[in-house]
Amino acid sequence: MKRIIFIGPPGAGKGTQAARIKDSYSIPWISTGDMFRDAIRGGTPMGLQAKAYVDSGALVPDEIVVGLTLERLAQPDCDKGFLLDGFPRTVVQADALHHELEERGGGIDLVVHLMVDEDELVERLLERGRIEGRADDTEATIRHRLEVYDEETRPVVGYYRRAGICADVDGSGDLDTVFARISDAIDSGE
Ligand code: AMP
Repeated sequence: MKRIIFIGPPGAGKGTQAARIKDSYSIPWISTGDMFRDAIRGGTPMGLQAKAYVDSGALVPDEIVVGLTLERLAQPDCDKGFLLDGFPRTVVQADALHHELEERGGGIDLVVHLMVDEDELVERLLERGRIEGRADDTEATIRHRLEVYDEETRPVVGYYRRAGICADVDGSGDLDTVFARISDAIDSGE
């Protein structure tokens, strides 16, 4: 059983690394950002609600995100563990997750805190914007998302640090190097 959270600023490589970690540990990868982008593309009621927040780089309100994520975690494939990418992003979300897992008996095993310099983050995000055409990867929106990260999500890192389950991982360098660092952090907790 592995219940893992990836936390880090936009552009830290959470999605890229999560795609590999989910395969090597055979656990479902749950990206709330992907869930929102799918809902927006599909024009679902939740997508319509979330669109303005996602496009501007603001956080979708906690009630919406928490409901969506806890519903996903109740699916049977999460019984063997999961990799959460992009959730929780606020202390309210972290508390909601904690209570849910406590009721089910258990908790989070490890929080991987991916760290990358701000200049490198902006460069990576602008590049991703050019390649993938993501609406929220423009310079002004990127700056806003980094501010939102500092204000809302950094405290979540402190929350898990106090719980003694946070591993700081250097997210700079090539993909294989970062992947090896993350795998080491996961395996050393076994
Ligand atoms: P991401 O792909 O993780 O960078 O997420 C893209 C966007 O989806 C964010 O900028 C938010 O607008 C929204 N989002 C994703 N996860 C969350 C979350 N846990 N809480 C609030 N908003 C979220």
